[in-house]
Amino acid sequence: MSSSSANKKPESDRVYVAKARKCLMCSSEFMSSWPGERVCKSCKETAAWKDSSLAA
Ligand SMILES: [Zn+2]
Repeated sequence: MSSSSANKKPESDRVYVAKARKCLMCSSEFMSSWPGERVCKSCKETAAWKDSSLAA
């Protein structure tokens, strides 16, 4: 039996580094400061993003 409970990585200890991602809306590269950030800053300021049609 090999129940590998030590399989998890200490992700809570990890500091996320800002990296370049492609914006979901305009497909241009931007600096994402955290994993959930998928839309560039300029797109977030648009009314379309505030309408949050992506959340459907
Ligand atoms: Zn964008």
